[in-house]
Amino acid sequence: MAYKRILLKLSGEALMGEKQYGIDPGRLAAYADEIKEVVEKGIEVAIVIGGGNIFRGLAGASSGMDRVQGDHMGMLATVINGLALQSALEIKGVQTRLQSAIKINEVAEPFIRRRAMRHLEKGRVVIFGGGTGNPYFTTDSAAVLRAIEIEADVILKGTRVDGIYTSDPEKDKNATKFDTISFNEVLRKGLKVMDTTAFTLSQENELPIVVFDMNKKGNLLKIVSGQNIGTVVNL
Ligand code: UDP
Repeated sequence: MAYKRILLKLSGEALMGEKQYGIDPGRLAAYADEIKEVVEKGIEVAIVIGGGNIFRGLAGASSGMDRVQGDHMGMLATVINGLALQSALEIKGVQTRLQSAIKINEVAEPFIRRRAMRHLEKGRVVIFGGGTGNPYFTTDSAAVLRAIEIEADVILKGTRVDGIYTSDPEKDKNATKFDTISFNEVLRKGLKVMDTTAFTLSQENELPIVVFDMNKKGNLLKIVSGQNIGTVVNL
């Protein structure tokens, strides 16, 4: 195995599957299968999940809502997604804990770094909900922050495209994929991997990012086994 401890970042939108909003149970179950496969190989798995399938603070702000209020809604949305993923994993017999950055004790444990690491050592999947707990941040930033805190080897960003391209492959037929790329090159070329705050935090802490297609069966296991089927961003 290429990694011992991973931080998997899943966007909220990915959970929609073919739907326009909310959570697609089929997609959720498929993700749970992928995750179970790597847990069974002895990989320690932490997950940060987004909330874009339910609410984004920026969307609220664009229709006149207070941004901070909207971000609170977005953070709660990530807790909802976290609960859904936790349930999907438990149905498949995977032990999990949900830790939230905002206190919601009846629903999830509070985020406690040492406790999270202990869960991981025991083979439990730890899902981090509530983002960073602060408005004006994204779950990509939460993913990088948590990955550094729990000393993950890598951040795996599961998307619906299979890596980083010279331009948007959904719009440009001539776009080509990078197998590896440096942080500086991503910045120089103006490529979009994560928002700037998240990306810089990862670079400063020398935490590699792998972008890959999470919707293809078996891909997560391939990545943790060391196959480069996505794009690796490294120093
Ligand atoms: N959010 C926040 N602080 C954080 C993480 C998330 O305020 O640390 C809010 C923000 O409003 C964001 C929403 O939660 O739009 C959902 O997160 P994100 O957009 O990152 O989800 P994704 O795009 O991954 O589905």
